[in-house]
Amino acid sequence: MEREKIEAGFRLVLEGLGADADHPDLRDTPRRTAQAWAEELCAGLSEAPVALDTMPLPEGGPAGLVVLEGIPVKSMCAHHLLPFTGEAVVGYLPGDSICGLSRLSRVVNHFARRPQMQEFLTQQVAEYLERELRPRGVGVVVRGRHLCMELRGVNHPGVMTTTTLLGGLPGRRGAARGVHGAGRLRGGGAIRRPAAGPGWWPSCSGP
Ligand SMILES: [Zn+2]
Repeated sequence: MEREKIEAGFRLVLEGLGADADHPDLRDTPRRTAQAWAEELCAGLSEAPVALDTMPLPEGGPAGLVVLEGIPVKSMCAHHLLPFTGEAVVGYLPGDSICGLSRLSRVVNHFARRPQMQEFLTQQVAEYLERELRPRGVGVVVRGRHLCMELRGVNHPGVMTTTTLLGGLPGRRGAARGVHGAGRLRGGGAIRRPAAGPGWWPSCSGP
């Protein structure tokens, strides 16, 4: 990540809006904004992939669904660079191993903290868990409010977007769909790679 380029870009935005970017009230704005983008809003781009801390499931051990609800989602719409926020539900049906519960939250955060599309976020979390945890099934649901729909464009505050991806769960074989347009499974519950998204970040830790 090139912090100087981000800072220069925000200075250009101020100048493009007609502001005096050297005014004492504004001159630190590009630096502050670049810092927030690099260290917080897009932190997932520079951090290492999340280690799931898997542990083997003993013979006869609990084999039911593991579900985390209410995982905060804080992300930036890749199309408008405005925030979208909400909650995720992540669950899996253990195969040979289980993982630390907080790791599920960290996986969501890792893929959310970057310019993102909710559809891809949902799919990337599910793909990552399927690949790293090898569960018998995985399910991810994300519900989000998008400021790009609330402050501009259609200007509809309070609209919730729900995206789901279910793979390999009993009775849901191959039945998953992304309500907002992407993320779908076909045949056998195997999760397919998204058509785009990871290609945005050729050097990052995305899937
Ligand atoms: Zn948007």
